[in-house]
Amino acid sequence: MPDVPIQIIRTASDIRHGILAARHSGKRIGLVPTMGALHEGHLSLVRAAQKVCEFVAVTIFVNPAQFGPNEDFDKYPRTIDEDLEALHELGVDVVFMPERDELYPKGFSTYVLPPAVADPLEGQYRPEHFRGVATIVLKLFNLLPADVAFFGQKDFQQCQVIRHMAEDLNVPTEIQVCPIIREPDGLAMSSRNRYLSPEDRVRAVALSQALDEAVRQVQGGTIESSAVAERMRDILLKAGVNKIDYAVVVDADTLGAIDQIDRPAVALIAVRLGSTRLIDNALLNAE
Ligand code: AMP
Repeated sequence: MPDVPIQIIRTASDIRHGILAARHSGKRIGLVPTMGALHEGHLSLVRAAQKVCEFVAVTIFVNPAQFGPNEDFDKYPRTIDEDLEALHELGVDVVFMPERDELYPKGFSTYVLPPAVADPLEGQYRPEHFRGVATIVLKLFNLLPADVAFFGQKDFQQCQVIRHMAEDLNVPTEIQVCPIIREPDGLAMSSRNRYLSPEDRVRAVALSQALDEAVRQVQGGTIESSAVAERMRDILLKAGVNKIDYAVVVDADTLGAIDQIDRPAVALIAVRLGSTRLIDNALLNAE
């Protein structure tokens, strides 16, 4: 573990100056945005950043703008002491941890209208969610002008929203998407998994099982997306996961519907188990 204490910055002007100073000293800057309650998924992004950047900044901010009025903003897990210890152990250069008012002061009223890829799927179930995501991510890109920003494929649609936004708005930061980190039984790691009851924790394995089966089907030659989607739904229902928001196969770039899996495609699942909403996905015909 590094001897020096971890550097924590709480204000917008300090973080901007800190990042610009590191840039001017010739360092390649990596940015890892998070909402805290860190697990191995988050830490894998930090490690990926450290591989290609000499200066890595992690942000911890539970962004109110991306939660709907009936969602879990107040209940979202906050484990700041453990988070800082884990980041210190990894040797992260700086943690930006602003208060809510620092990023959304009184009178704040400007939001990013997210790209079209935000409209289906999560966009239907969480109407303002991607507006909040696009807004905070663009704010972070402005406050922490990084060379590369790291996001997890776990939030596949979010990655596409950020990619399209960055391209459309000429954001100079490169976007790198990192693989999904899973528990030994296949459940994708998520800060919200801790809220699953023991019974739902067992049922939750069905998400990755359904996605594995989708990958197998496509590798085995199935090309109708409806056949793959139906099989995923069967697996979920058999496991007792019956509140399925969606279990679909779509175009991996636009997230638009496809009849045939004849281009890069992704299987995406969102379900509710108790009061916990889980999402997961798998690329189907990745090279
Ligand atoms: P969050 O704190 O949930 O907003 O996530 C912060 C970043 O970590 C996002 O880019 C997520 O996609 C990523 N992330 C969350 N869970 C995982 C996981 N299991 N594997 C890889 N990345 C993840």
